[in-house]
Amino acid sequence: MKEVKNFINGEYRASSIGSTFDNVDPCTGAVIGSVHEASREDVDAAVTAAREALAGPWGTMTEAERSELLHAVADGIDRRFDEFLEAECADTGKPYNIASHIDIPRGAANFKVFADAIKNFPTEAFQMPTPDGRGAFNISVRKPKGVIAVISPWNLPLLLMTWKVGPALACGNSVVVKPSEETPTTTSLLGEVMNEAGVPAGVFNVVNGFGPDSAGAFLTEHRGVDAITFTGETRTGEIITQAAAKGLRDVSMECGGKNPALVFADCDMDKAIEGTLRSVFANCGQVCLGTERVYVERPIFDAFVNRLAAEAGKFKLGVPQDKTTDMGPLVSHEHQRKVLSYYELAVAEGANVVLGGGVPDMPDELAGGAWVQPTIWTGLSDDARVVREEIFGPCCHIRPFDTEEEAIALANDTPYGLAASVWTENMSRALRVSPQIDCGICWVNSWFLRDLRTPFGGSKESGIGREGGVHSMEFYTELQNVCIKI
Ligand code: NAD
Repeated sequence: MKEVKNFINGEYRASSIGSTFDNVDPCTGAVIGSVHEASREDVDAAVTAAREALAGPWGTMTEAERSELLHAVADGIDRRFDEFLEAECADTGKPYNIASHIDIPRGAANFKVFADAIKNFPTEAFQMPTPDGRGAFNISVRKPKGVIAVISPWNLPLLLMTWKVGPALACGNSVVVKPSEETPTTTSLLGEVMNEAGVPAGVFNVVNGFGPDSAGAFLTEHRGVDAITFTGETRTGEIITQAAAKGLRDVSMECGGKNPALVFADCDMDKAIEGTLRSVFANCGQVCLGTERVYVERPIFDAFVNRLAAEAGKFKLGVPQDKTTDMGPLVSHEHQRKVLSYYELAVAEGANVVLGGGVPDMPDELAGGAWVQPTIWTGLSDDARVVREEIFGPCCHIRPFDTEEEAIALANDTPYGLAASVWTENMSRALRVSPQIDCGICWVNSWFLRDLRTPFGGSKESGIGREGGVHSMEFYTELQNVCIKI
């Protein structure tokens, strides 16, 4: 049984109130570890350590020195790659062949990218006239915001947490991270890597626990926190934004989605099938950027539905270590209950179940896991809850369309605005359609192709602000104008 403790001021600490909760293997339902829940006092200790770290050596380091340390952190993740991989897959149930290509390498890359970016992050200067003819210079000075609260979800735990911690530290802030209660292990392990790399105590802290009345709320309500960066559900984002309103603290919100794919008859069908298979089913559908609504131009509708269902029907469900596994379980029984409730609702709302729709038969040793079948529906109305609400499972609804205008209107008929993909070989159409979709990131003939310098985030109820490249750096710094009269 592994114990996951809080990481405060450079050391692992047990819960001060002796409270622990179970870490459960989603493949089997077995308890594999115990997690120390941070009390209000523990969270306060973490925020205090983070504040004090800003006044210590960390606060006077040059950008080049911080950059070197963050490269050492990235090297530390690379060196302990197998430990991170094992921990991430044990917590989430995701296949090694996904986590070893995406989650863990991106965990290291998130430090490397921002360690390099900080050395080339310019500021601005303006020369202005004054009545006496001598003029003045304005210089924009960038400073760290201070103590950053990082609240992260369970679907890509290391990747999404380091996506925030990397730029926050590059810009000279200190952080207190509250990882998801479902997936605390890799965040905790990062504490060891920080110590090995020589990051000063208190710069990186981890508090474990839940949201309301637990570490999440204690941290976001803490007035020693200067800004909050959050990835998770839109409803949670609203609660955290309210907490941040006290003291007018800045927020970055990466929230939910109900992302569309538009498949035009002039697409390359092989590419569209391969890309949509990934965008719907990768990580068992637990990707914020994943597709849950597929709109296909009528002439190729039947062929597309049949091919997608035939390919998804071949998926092998299994344990992370098995190299032939295509899809793991959902992260938890709680999430399994949620996804299965939508599978039932789809039928009640009149869906035609093309594939799946229930719980797969698994071998006895995996029967206690959070498994669901890959699922495809057609025939639902545009106002069905299954078409409007984020499910976050391996499922999609496919609907035909007749014109480009209709496809755009359908794509935008959602309160969310995170991602979209457009499949067409006609680049004029791609350039015409993509900017008309209300979303933060629109892929053409691809999905999840990421350049970490580009803006990443959502419009409408999918979020506030952008991360990535200079956009992250802008969030994690405060700009001051210094005006010098000559
Ligand atoms: P969640 O909102 O339930 O939890 C996210 C984090 O917030 C967890 O650490 C949780 O403990 C914490 N939390 C919950 N209530 C809180 C509260 N009142 N105060 C403070 N913290 C609180 O989300 P989840 O189920 O972990 O993740 C899935 C969701 O995340 C989906 O909606 C998905 O679309 C979204 N997501 C978005 C992105 C993106 O980049 N836009 C990326 C990944 C996931």
